[in-house]
Amino acid sequence: MSIAILVHGGVGPHDFQTEREQGMEKAVHTGYAILENGGSALDAVQAAVRVLEDDPTFNAGTGSVLNELGEVETDAALMEGATRRAGAVGALRGVGHPVELARCLLEEGRHVLLVGEGALRFAREHQFPLVEPRTLVTAAQKKHWSDHRGTVGAVAADHRGHLASATSTGGIAGKHPGRLGDTPLIGSGTYADQRLAVSCTGDGESIIRMVLAHEAACRYRERPEPAQVARESIERFGLEVPGIAGIILIDSGGRTGWAASPGTSMLHGLATPEGITVGY
Ligand code: ASP
Repeated sequence: MSIAILVHGGVGPHDFQTEREQGMEKAVHTGYAILENGGSALDAVQAAVRVLEDDPTFNAGTGSVLNELGEVETDAALMEGATRRAGAVGALRGVGHPVELARCLLEEGRHVLLVGEGALRFAREHQFPLVEPRTLVTAAQKKHWSDHRGTVGAVAADHRGHLASATSTGGIAGKHPGRLGDTPLIGSGTYADQRLAVSCTGDGESIIRMVLAHEAACRYRERPEPAQVARESIERFGLEVPGIAGIILIDSGGRTGWAASPGTSMLHGLATPEGITVGY
């Protein structure tokens, strides 16, 4: 089977281009090393996303955008296609690595989505490390406040042809406390089945209304061409709902596709046996 990982750093206009490209390269490397050593797609997407949660130039984990109270509140999800296991968490305060809490929920297997205080309670019950919420707020975020994008996501195919997807975000700047975006909603921002794994970024309210990740998976069943599915999914998004979106996807043959709304850019990095590329 052909292994591959594709990672995105959010759709939009962005600051910190060089730093973000370096961060992306590190994330892709980290995820791909796991695949190369025979690891699972699920471990690979989680590891890649974790790297970007630690990178303050991305809108996930440390450096996330601030809500209207000036706080970081994050959402994350991951899904394994072959088993359809999924874990998602939302409206989290004081979690440095939301994707790892989502993985913990996935492994426990009882629920798919936990939010807010209940999710933190789950974290404490599982001795999951929590941090002082203020430590996730960066000076750059306090200054920029309203125009930072840079959600992160990854999709991968492992040596067994199994697929996984993960997404992590601080959501949209100035959001109401308690707002969940598309990221933790399985089928909207994050989705994987046996055929395709998908991660989305962009205006969450519109992505939710389109159930965009699942829409792409349905499209793939009709016509199994990842690049075309990515393009057509974003075209349909533009015709039906306001705002912008970006999408990355991979099939079990390691074939990838990505697309972003016209007039936007989406930093992404791809690693395959042929090498690593980072671009827009
Ligand atoms: N989709 C994310 C959300 O709405 C934000 C983004 O991707 O920029 O929460």
